[in-house]
Amino acid sequence: MKIKNFKLNSDAQVIHKVTWEVLRAFHIELADSDDAADFDAFQISNDVTGKKVLTRLTVKNSGGVQTFQKADVINREERRGAEINRIIKKNLYTILTRDLKLRGVPYGIMHGVRPVKIVHRWLKDKFAVTNHGVIDRDKIARRLRADYLTNYEKSLLLTEVALRQIPILNSSDDKTVSVYIGIPFCVTRCLYCSFPSNVLPAADKVAAFMEILTRDIDAAAAEVERYGFNVQNIYIGGGTPSSLPIKFFRELLEKVTQKFYRDTKEFTVECGRPDTVDDDKIAAMKDFHVNRVCLNPQTMQQKTLDRIGRRHSVEQFLTAFEKLRQAADWKINTDLILGLPGENFDDAQDSLQKVLALNPDDITLHALALKRGSKLQTQIADEVHSLADFNLPSDEEVIKMSDAAEKILRGKNYLPYYLYRQGYISGQIENIAYCKRGAECIYNVQIMNEQQVILGIGPAASTKVPDKKESRLQTSYNAKDLTTYLRDIDKYISNRSKVLAQVYS
Ligand code: SF4
Repeated sequence: MKIKNFKLNSDAQVIHKVTWEVLRAFHIELADSDDAADFDAFQISNDVTGKKVLTRLTVKNSGGVQTFQKADVINREERRGAEINRIIKKNLYTILTRDLKLRGVPYGIMHGVRPVKIVHRWLKDKFAVTNHGVIDRDKIARRLRADYLTNYEKSLLLTEVALRQIPILNSSDDKTVSVYIGIPFCVTRCLYCSFPSNVLPAADKVAAFMEILTRDIDAAAAEVERYGFNVQNIYIGGGTPSSLPIKFFRELLEKVTQKFYRDTKEFTVECGRPDTVDDDKIAAMKDFHVNRVCLNPQTMQQKTLDRIGRRHSVEQFLTAFEKLRQAADWKINTDLILGLPGENFDDAQDSLQKVLALNPDDITLHALALKRGSKLQTQIADEVHSLADFNLPSDEEVIKMSDAAEKILRGKNYLPYYLYRQGYISGQIENIAYCKRGAECIYNVQIMNEQQVILGIGPAASTKVPDKKESRLQTSYNAKDLTTYLRDIDKYISNRSKVLAQVYS
């Protein structure tokens, strides 16, 4: 839906931000000067008087001018500023659905990447927890609906996922950490990719990268020693770590094991692209204690793989999966993407059934997050097909795919245990992992909830250190750009060290 003019009675950046979060959730955008528009004007005002927050929306179109309003009160269950912002969003959302009759979105006014954290925060404050430690699930779900206008199903899903995570979160203390190592290479670049990944360069360039990465690993290992940390999880992601030539891949695993692997519970390697998995790499992972592997078909439709430039075949995925399964008793995670260009409900069902037939331990369903009309979208269309062929399923179709997938997965005893959201996500839904009982990826739960120290190594990796005294997360980020990372490695090592010292020294 397009609007020609937009006015808000506040210059505050945060008010603009929260207002546009709601508008974008309904695909409301400003029209370019030559675009046709559904409304000539949208004028929004928010007024706070005492405990009351009043929002007004005046719309102007060919039918005339109309004003709608909604008020709500602050009840001081959160920081006043945060609560006012949330109420402004709620008021606007209510006007858009109640008065303009726009269809609500599954997560209501929730916008953040980590919605489950909200439930964990409430539980920490003893909301919905009795004196005997019993948690009232319905009370949590009711509050999600009341505070964030999530739909009924999502309120139950968020509650369920949060409660399932509790034992995992409780398995960590102040001295328990995870280590993340980012490998920024892939064999080719998938056209929809938004990760900072590079096509694998020649061996001398890889060797130069490995040298710097080794310094980064050594420095992080020194921090582990200094503070007496226990490394609960190691996660090698990217990129596609298994795209490294075997010599470097083996050296990496050996180094990481030697430096971090003690009583480590989980050691994951993202193999991602099936065309990077062979007998030598499988042997290396077995030799160095890897106990979880991700192998991602994204779809089991060959025509889609070709369309999105993923350049591996369904057959290669099946072969790689079988090899991994035969090789060791590790957990295998598979990712699928809902909403890929040209796919419909039947394609999504077919892909899921084919992956389920392999009996993986974990299936993560992503919803494609692609800014419509973005350069990337145009690029895919230009490079592979004409724009007309580039056919993204509608939000409704993606929601239908996701609902059906959830039923099928639950029917096969896969339960949801971790989820996150992204901007421009198809169907306004979530990326969600389902697994068999006991097959949860501990690292993914820890990184999403940000309650455990994560030591980030490699380009695009972030170090996160919960600071309980200051009630905040201390962070340091390595450059996403490979050249910058290689050039400024000393700075990133020093930043990580400072962040840790702030909390632990
Ligand atoms: S394999 Fe993953 S990280 Fe690599 S280009 Fe494709 S989507 Fe991006």
